[in-house]
Amino acid sequence: MKIAVLSRNPRLYSTRRLIEAGEQRGHEMVVIDTLRAYMNIASHKPQIHYRGQALEGFDAVIPRIGASVTFYGCAVLRQFEMMGVFPLNESVAISRSRDKLRSLQLLSRKGVGLPVTGFAHSPDDIPDLIDMVNGAPLVIKLLEGTQGIGVVMCETQQAAESVIEAFMGLKQNIMVQEYIKEAGGADIRCFVIGDKVIAAIKRQAKPGEFRSNLHRGGSASLIKITPEERMTAVRAANIMGLNVAGVDILRSNHGPLVMEVNSSPGLEGIETTTGKDVAGLVIQYLEKNGRPHLTRTRGRG
Ligand code: ADP
Repeated sequence: MKIAVLSRNPRLYSTRRLIEAGEQRGHEMVVIDTLRAYMNIASHKPQIHYRGQALEGFDAVIPRIGASVTFYGCAVLRQFEMMGVFPLNESVAISRSRDKLRSLQLLSRKGVGLPVTGFAHSPDDIPDLIDMVNGAPLVIKLLEGTQGIGVVMCETQQAAESVIEAFMGLKQNIMVQEYIKEAGGADIRCFVIGDKVIAAIKRQAKPGEFRSNLHRGGSASLIKITPEERMTAVRAANIMGLNVAGVDILRSNHGPLVMEVNSSPGLEGIETTTGKDVAGLVIQYLEKNGRPHLTRTRGRG
């Protein structure tokens, strides 16, 4: 197959591994810098140009679109879809997953366990909003945050009110969430491909920290997940319409709670911790499922 990897940086671990795994399995792998792809969207024959030439003959595309380039990246991916190229994840599913509130609303509608989460616009409604999520301690999250930045824990009602007020004053969209204390500063990253969790790791926050992000000094270890966790992760990815996803789960007293569904899950932490060839499994998925003009939405919806 001829496979495009939409990525801004070919030196990133995940991009490198996907290229390596694809080439090992006999495919032609081409990295395309997302922001350097351009197109005539009104043409009868959809095309993408790159460094002065039309891209042709691709069977599949692997989007590795960073949060900061979601808008343009999804437009490029949509153009690939219109050309009939099979996307590992569809543009519609990626943009859906990048909207944290929309994602939680979709998951909640299907009965997936979530931490109690509130959202409000007006500072006048802060006290009731805090009540809605059962009071302090609670977690406040910037909707645009990634890698744990903009995730704040407030131990008292007063601290929570001040922080929410401050974020609202800065015109930042936030959500307010119950703090899952029993998770003990750990979460589980489930790597889903198709209808299977192919690898899972536990991420533990460093002492004195509740955010387990590896970028925040958290450490990763092997974990055996329960059938319920497995099912929850696969359902969450499926509801979002993602073929490949990193589903982050908190272990609570009342079962697994989904925190986030990531459409471009990193490979480094999961591969080095589990020793599994996750990149190879991603390529295998494309070999099995990648057919021209097979996109469910073709960029619509
Ligand atoms: P980001 O998307 O920026 O990584 P997350 O929502 O995943 O932000 O939060 C970062 C980390 O903070 C999580 O990995 C988890 O360890 C911790 N965390 C987030 N929300 C909660 C919560 N409601 N209760 C307990 N811990 C939480």
